[in-house]
Amino acid sequence: PRIVGADASLEDEVYGATLRPRRFDDYVGQTQVVENLRIAIDAAARRGEPLEHVLFSGPPGLGKTTLANLIARATGGTLRPTSGPTMEKPKDLVGILTALEPGDVLFIDEIHRLGSVVEEYLYPAMEDFQIDFVVDRGAYAKTLRLPLKRFTLIGATTRAGMLSAPLRDRFGIVHHLAYYEPPELQQIVERSARVLEIAIEDAGARTIAERSRGTPRIANRLLRRVRDFAEVRAGGVITAEVADEALRREGVDALGLDRLDRAYIETIARQYGGGPVGINAIAATLTEDVETLEDVVEPYLLKIGLVQRTASGRKTTPAAHAHLGLPSSSAPQPRLF
Ligand code: ADP
Repeated sequence: PRIVGADASLEDEVYGATLRPRRFDDYVGQTQVVENLRIAIDAAARRGEPLEHVLFSGPPGLGKTTLANLIARATGGTLRPTSGPTMEKPKDLVGILTALEPGDVLFIDEIHRLGSVVEEYLYPAMEDFQIDFVVDRGAYAKTLRLPLKRFTLIGATTRAGMLSAPLRDRFGIVHHLAYYEPPELQQIVERSARVLEIAIEDAGARTIAERSRGTPRIANRLLRRVRDFAEVRAGGVITAEVADEALRREGVDALGLDRLDRAYIETIARQYGGGPVGINAIAATLTEDVETLEDVVEPYLLKIGLVQRTASGRKTTPAAHAHLGLPSSSAPQPRLF
C-alpha cells in the first residue's frame, strides 16, 4: 500500500478520530474559510435557521470531513456521514433523507460520484426540503410529495469540476481548501505529538511538516512512522536527524515526494521525453488509475511547479529534472540505434 498517499486508510480512521480537531480553535490554517463559516453559522443561529448547504472541494486529506464535524458541533446538529459511491439507488438516499431530524447535518463525501438518478432526488430535498416520488406507471402514475425536516447538506469533493451545474448551484456556501504551508503543518504535527504524547523537537516537527505534501493527513501519518523509528532506533525523541532518516527509509524525499510521485515524473521524463503526454498514457505506463493521478499526484506536483498541464498534455519542468537528476527535456536522451 502507498504509505504517504493521501487516501484514508483504516489506520487513519483509528488515529483520525483521536487527532481530529474538536473545536474550530484547534483547526489550523484555512483562515478565510473558517472565518466565513463561523460568520455564516452565527448568522443562521441568530435567525433560528439551519445553516445553508455547504460544498468543500480540494485534494484528499486537507480537512473537509473535519470541517463537517466542526460545523455539526457548532450548530448543535447530529452529523450523518455517508458517501456518493455507497448510494447506488434512489431508495438509499431517500432512506437517509427521511430519517433526518431538524438541524441534522448530512455529510456526503465524494459527492461527485453520486449517480445522476440519485442526484435528481437531492435537488428538491436541498431546495424545498421535500422529495417527489413517482408511483405506479402509465395512466396510473402519480407524484407523491414527502416533506423532510430542515437539514444542512455538506458535500465534499476532490473534483468540483465534475459536479453537475444544477447540483453545484444548490449550495449556498462553497469553499475550496488549498494545500497548507509548512508552518501550519508544523503546528499540526506539534499538536498531534502532544495528543499522542510523542517527544519531538521543533526542528523534527519542521522536517516532517516540510515533507508532508501540504497535507495534514500525510503530516499525521509521517509523524507516526517517524515515531516508530525514533522509539525503536533512536531513543524515542524525534530530532531533525531522526525525522530525516526515518522519512528517507519510507521513500519520502526532500520535497516530500513519494515513490509514486517520482515514478510519475520519471515516466514523463524518460518514456515520453518530458512530454507533452496524455494522462491516459501515463496511467497505463504506471498501471495506476487516472483518478489517483489526477486527484492525488498531480495537484501537488503542479503546485510546486514540477509539472505543467497544457492543452496537449502533461510536461515535466526543468525543476523536476533537476530534482531527480534527470537529463533536461530539451536534450533528448541519446539513442543506441
Ligand atoms: P478530507 O476529508 O479532506 O479528506 P480530513 O478532514 O479527513 O480530510 O482530514 C484528515 C486528517 O487530517 C484529520 O484526521 C485531522 O486529524 C487532520 N486535519 C485536517 N485538517 C486539519 C487542520 N486544519 N488542523 C488540524 N488537523 C487537521
